[in-house]
Amino acid sequence: MHVVIVGNGIAGVTAARHVRKADAEAHVTLVSDETATPFARTALMYVYMGVLTRSHTALYEERFWAENRIDRVVDRALALDPDRQRLALRNGGDLAYDRLLIATGSVPFLPDWPGAGLDGVQGLYHLQDLNRMEAATVEVERAAVVGGGLIGVELAEMLRTRGVDVTFLVREERYLPRVFSEAESALVADAIRAHGVDLRLGAEVDRVEGQGRAEAVVTADAERIPAGFVGVGTGVRPNVGWLGDAVEADRGVLVDAALRTSAANVWAAGDCAQLREPPVGARAVEPIWYTARLQGATAGLGMAGRPLAYAPGVFFNSAKFFDLEWQVYGATSTDGDDWEWTDGRRGLRIRHADGAVRGVSALGVRLRQAVCTQWVEEEWALDRALTDLDAARFDPEFAPALTL
Ligand SMILES: Cc1cc2nc3c(=O)[nH]c(=O)nc-3n(C[C@H](O)[C@H](O)[C@H](O)COP(=O)(O)OP(=O)(O)OC[C@H]3O[C@@H](n4cnc5c(N)ncnc54)[C@H](O)[C@@H]3O)c2cc1C
Repeated sequence: MHVVIVGNGIAGVTAARHVRKADAEAHVTLVSDETATPFARTALMYVYMGVLTRSHTALYEERFWAENRIDRVVDRALALDPDRQRLALRNGGDLAYDRLLIATGSVPFLPDWPGAGLDGVQGLYHLQDLNRMEAATVEVERAAVVGGGLIGVELAEMLRTRGVDVTFLVREERYLPRVFSEAESALVADAIRAHGVDLRLGAEVDRVEGQGRAEAVVTADAERIPAGFVGVGTGVRPNVGWLGDAVEADRGVLVDAALRTSAANVWAAGDCAQLREPPVGARAVEPIWYTARLQGATAGLGMAGRPLAYAPGVFFNSAKFFDLEWQVYGATSTDGDDWEWTDGRRGLRIRHADGAVRGVSALGVRLRQAVCTQWVEEEWALDRALTDLDAARFDPEFAPALTL
């Protein structure tokens, strides 16, 4: 059996590993147009910041690929023909498959501002973006970052570590209003400003100006902000354009509970997939690392003849805003009320509904995943969870107590 995986991000690589685990005989081919060595996309910022070298970001040691007999092909998939079970590659002709996984991730969304095509205006997604950013920021003293998501704040942090003055333009009136409470948005904004970033909330970009390369961003209220580099973090979209109508797609490639697409013997996983019926607590398209990894594992086992329903359990994610760490469990933005605590630097919020804990959001406080997951999974009452707070704290010996 020949299993072909398009995309060597965390979804594709995890799938390849699980095919091999379940089927010692399968011929596994991993195709990517980005790099031969799969790497941790989430670590790109640390390379720019000098904390990691590129080799530190490799997902596996080089010998892993030979030991697991996973062939790697650096090429671009141009089209899929599910009737003939063939994948057309830009340089390598056609590849025949018995089972195929679409794991082509996301593409960054770039707004069509006048001047968006100037040199020095870019997002950060692929390794090639990091290379371009390295080159584009060598002489830059002032930069702008646009878009208040997680990639925007990473771009701001990256530039600050190289001493670049950063103006951070966020359209919303407070930071991530669909995700954070007002108090949380304020904590995050303070953390960003504490690192010397000129964070402008409620700021809309009108255009980028420059001769050949970026020189300034002009806002909708006509302020001209000098910027030799403009980092764009205005979101990502599932990377499905190359598929034409080979499989049913909406925003992403539509998949059933076992991550099968509308085409026989074709699965999809990770950022590019869209669940037709998301399990409780999951979103149809969920462009995050843990989701891509778990979906990759599920699809890998499915392709090896061990179909499973994708079962993410209680949602978990973590991120950071400069040095303010954030953990989130379960549903923190759906219907319900909040119990909330803050000491002005850290914050803890428990969303509860119908008498039960639905989600937990922690800023600057490290919590134990097993404990918070249990609160949500077993629908603990809020009062019971509050008496369990000490058990939830990950490092109480190193951090000051939470005085409720
Ligand atoms: C800078 C950055 C920081 C992030 N930080 C976090 C974080 O802290 N936490 C978190 O949960 N998530 C984070 N994410 C999101 C996370 O990295 C993604 O959700 C995850 O990498 C998705 O994995 P994937 O395997 O689905 O796709 P990808 O990692 O996008 O991999 C897809 C691969 O397929 C290749 N490909 C695409 N089309 C083709 C084609 N036609 N032919 C051949 N190859 C193709 C791409 O080049 C790419 O190599 C971050 C993302 C970025 C960009």
